[in-house]
Amino acid sequence: MAAMLTIDDLRTSFIQAGKKLTVIEGVSLSVEPGETVGVVGESGCGKSVTSMSIMQLLGRNVEMTGSIRFQDKELLSLTDKQMQTIRGNQIAMIFQEPMTSLNPLHSIGKQISEPLRRHLGLSKQEAKRRTIELLKEVGIPRADEIISDYPHQLSGGMRQRVMIAMAMSCAPKLLIADEPTTALDVTIQAQILELMKKVRQEQGTSILLITHDLGVVAEMCHRVIVMYAGQIVEEADVKQLFDEPKHPYTRGLLKSMP
Ligand code: ADP
Ligand code: MG
Repeated sequence: MAAMLTIDDLRTSFIQAGKKLTVIEGVSLSVEPGETVGVVGESGCGKSVTSMSIMQLLGRNVEMTGSIRFQDKELLSLTDKQMQTIRGNQIAMIFQEPMTSLNPLHSIGKQISEPLRRHLGLSKQEAKRRTIELLKEVGIPRADEIISDYPHQLSGGMRQRVMIAMAMSCAPKLLIADEPTTALDVTIQAQILELMKKVRQEQGTSILLITHDLGVVAEMCHRVIVMYAGQIVEEADVKQLFDEPKHPYTRGLLKSMP
């Protein structure tokens, strides 16, 4: 079977005041159908820029070379409009702090049901019904009341559940999760990981899971990639990484584990 995602020699640079600052320096990786691949590495090594490069959410002052293939499509040669469609119903992304990606001015119900209407063509009634169903699936109590709440009225864990419901509403083939549990309490972290496992099992979603927590890697991932200063320095099966880490950075990371 063909890979779900294949990145080949990706270079991402920001253009600032006429200068070019390259922060991703030749990253290559792949995610197979149904596979969860972890990306670890210290703060500032380029994990988020890699995920934002895949989603093409870095704005105008950016230059990307290399190749990002999603199934049979080369994402770097799609138009903005085509890319928008892919983001709408094939690749979903969740972030560390859902507050930055939830609209504070719109109710939870509106934020989930509008994409359902737009991308799946559901009627207002159908979209509302499906929204409540999705919120129940991600373990939100009183879902029929929560739909009229605004993001600030929910806890961090609840907001992350809403983000997962939104991400899953169009049954994406690939989920990019950028530190999805970092901002949450430990018990809530475990619940969110369980939820991601459930979604993966039910929908067969491939996941690119960015984290700096090796515990999360051990629990969720099949394979793991270690980034350092914009490059991949190690790639291994999870067991292999824990048993015989090769790169000094990976060894340091393992030593710092509780
Ligand atoms: P992390 O691995 O912590 O997610 P990032 O991918 O966010 O790291 O950042 C990688 C590098 O790119 C950092 O040095 C960061 O300062 C830089 N960077 C991120 N976004 C921008 C931007 N919009 N403009 C310029 N530099 C950026
Ligand atoms: Mg980041």
